[in-house]
Amino acid sequence: MIGITPVPAFSDNYLWVLHDDHHAAVIDPGDHRPVADFLAAHGLQLAAILCTHHHADHVGGVEALLAFAGPVPVFGPAAEAIPARTVAVREGDQVHIDALGLDFAVLEVPGHTAGHVAYWGQGLLFCGDTLFACGCGRLFEGTAAQMTASLSKLRALPAATRFYCAHEYTLSNIRFALAVEPDNAALQARQVRESGRRARGLPTLPATLADERDTNPFLRWDQPAVIAAASRHAGRPLTAPHAVFGALRAWKDDFR
Ligand SMILES: [Zn+2]
Repeated sequence: MIGITPVPAFSDNYLWVLHDDHHAAVIDPGDHRPVADFLAAHGLQLAAILCTHHHADHVGGVEALLAFAGPVPVFGPAAEAIPARTVAVREGDQVHIDALGLDFAVLEVPGHTAGHVAYWGQGLLFCGDTLFACGCGRLFEGTAAQMTASLSKLRALPAATRFYCAHEYTLSNIRFALAVEPDNAALQARQVRESGRRARGLPTLPATLADERDTNPFLRWDQPAVIAAASRHAGRPLTAPHAVFGALRAWKDDFR
């Protein structure tokens, strides 16, 4: 039985730890301390580190965690500089974590960064800063067209896929999503549900891709209401998916 625990770090990061009773793998250890504390508290031996992209809040703790836990494989995108990486992964590669009996397919999802990857397997998706609950990552290194292609790839995974992103941004993302689609009943219901979770101090993650398809404007570039809102905001008619997506992303960047 695999547990998946969000270890909080910084102001709003989740460092996801996959574990059974003996072993653990961690996704994006931006800080080693909370992960080391979690491993020690539960008597877990680290078996692998998986990194999605090179930002410091995702990889800043890799080397110190290795110093604490001993050498383990460090998987990371081939196209980016990942500290202490031992296995450079590309689209179509498989990551096997023996100690936990887990397998993940590597998906290249550029946009937030140029070499960003996601890990998908066992109905789970670890997507770093590409897809957020009701939102998506900023375009720091890639183009709107790249990010649209990356999000299309994630949107096409099975609806029941549970995804684990790296930040708790859900409530502010929902506020923006409601500005785009004020009449989306599934989105209104999600706001009530997720607000309740946050009020009880619970994470809003994981979410399912089914939820995102119904409520996340950044996966809904082909919905008439989203196209109309993006066009209105941009002041010109938009049709191409990357144009609708790009207008939404620019709108969100300035949204308060
Ligand atoms: Zn990032």
